[in-house]
Amino acid sequence: MALMIQTIPLQLENPFHLSYGTTTVRENVVIELPGAPGGYGEAAVVPYTGETAARVIRYVEDPAVAEAVRRDPLLLEDAIDALPPGESSAARAAVDIALHDRWGRTLGQPLYRLWGLNPTRCPQSSFTVAIADDEADYREHIRAAGTFGLIKLKLGSGDWRRDLHLVDLARDTVGSRFCVDANGGWSAEDAAQIIPLLADRDILFVEQPVARDDFAGWKALRETLPAGMPPLMADESVQGVASVPPLAGLADGINIKLAKCGGLRAARQMIALARSYGMRVMIGCMVESSIAVTAAAHLAPLADYADLDGNLLVSNDPFRGMRLDGGRLHLPDAPGLGVTAADA
Ligand SMILES: [Mg+2]
Repeated sequence: MALMIQTIPLQLENPFHLSYGTTTVRENVVIELPGAPGGYGEAAVVPYTGETAARVIRYVEDPAVAEAVRRDPLLLEDAIDALPPGESSAARAAVDIALHDRWGRTLGQPLYRLWGLNPTRCPQSSFTVAIADDEADYREHIRAAGTFGLIKLKLGSGDWRRDLHLVDLARDTVGSRFCVDANGGWSAEDAAQIIPLLADRDILFVEQPVARDDFAGWKALRETLPAGMPPLMADESVQGVASVPPLAGLADGINIKLAKCGGLRAARQMIALARSYGMRVMIGCMVESSIAVTAAAHLAPLADYADLDGNLLVSNDPFRGMRLDGGRLHLPDAPGLGVTAADA
């Protein structure tokens, strides 16, 4: 029996306008392991990373993947070790997630329980609001997000003064707490200007202030910013396990996403590594269905911050899993991921 492979078009509630550009639909790849007890996985196809559905499918159809998947469901580590590295970390994550789901289903326990984690210790998840061109629209989106106690504002509009204005508009609109994500849209000089002003505005953390490969920028910020600034969290600058050590001493923490690092096993290694450097940990997601977001949510009890709203940004999520209620994360109390088809 072969893996079930399906591309799912995820319709975005609001066009997602970031410093990279605008998208209205994403096409992710969902897989299901053959036979009982099965297991779901998902690869986020994020255009700005150069990912394509075709590349994901090529990986999943690799005979070496089929062979790894045929292994004993309880020997999870052996199966993951047998996966080819491939060129797509999102594709590897899909298979890793499905193998974890099957492992948990076979043992009859949710993943968080097999890892000994306390589901009531999840940090509050933020909800993301993208940049809008029109101020009235922006206020509308902020107001709609106001049920969340923590809102993540996408910045990096190209002008840090406009970014600061967006923060002030948002703070003026609802009483939530805010964090910001520049998606690498600032130069080190811009970041050094705006970050102290964000500190004055009680911003919880600042994500990816400078460009992905701008390590000189990270270093300059570390040297020039005064004490008492919000934590600087690396996102685009951190990908897999090997990308963590170079950021130690530069970023205050890392945003781990399964599609970047290749799955749950690598994510757990990154958490341990980050902690060994005294770094903070955020568990994030891409625009994804409930499969991949719920997989990431099982790690939330190990994190300081969670940004697990990816499935809430889409209007046609075909699956059900973890729930967010005003940002409070509820992990499903069911074996494996605890994800089911929405129409089941
Ligand atoms: Mg980010």
